[in-house]
Amino acid sequence: MVSACLAGENCKYNGGNNRNEKVLQLMKENEVITVCPEQMGGLPTPRVPSEVKDGVVTARDGRNVDKEFRDGAAKCLERAAKEKPDLIVLQSRSPSCGVKQRYDGTFSGTLMDAPGITAQLLMENGFRCMDVEDLAESE
Ligand code: SF4
Repeated sequence: MVSACLAGENCKYNGGNNRNEKVLQLMKENEVITVCPEQMGGLPTPRVPSEVKDGVVTARDGRNVDKEFRDGAAKCLERAAKEKPDLIVLQSRSPSCGVKQRYDGTFSGTLMDAPGITAQLLMENGFRCMDVEDLAESE
């Protein structure tokens, strides 16, 4: 399973993607499912960027988007429970997909050592998750 933006899908908050050649190679060699938890939670693309602030996902304009983020995470978990992926490769530092780090909720570009909402839920349920940056380093 991979973050859809890594596969080149234009699901990023700004309408773009994070196309990654190593992920595309992985997709050629394996059966891969793409997921975008923010879209699956009902958020539009493009959308206002969000960060986790004091445990609540909040858009830069101050809107509480926690429910959408958690709904999307739950849908990814449902999908993972059904498909049982051996590995989940996720976009680094995203408030949904980041595995090792996310931004700290101040919208100042400051990182903290904590996962995004979806990555956390998947890992809590025993799925093996990896930041895409670590996929690149592992080769
Ligand atoms: S939620 Fe995840 S898959 Fe969707 S655009 Fe953000 S990083 Fe990519």
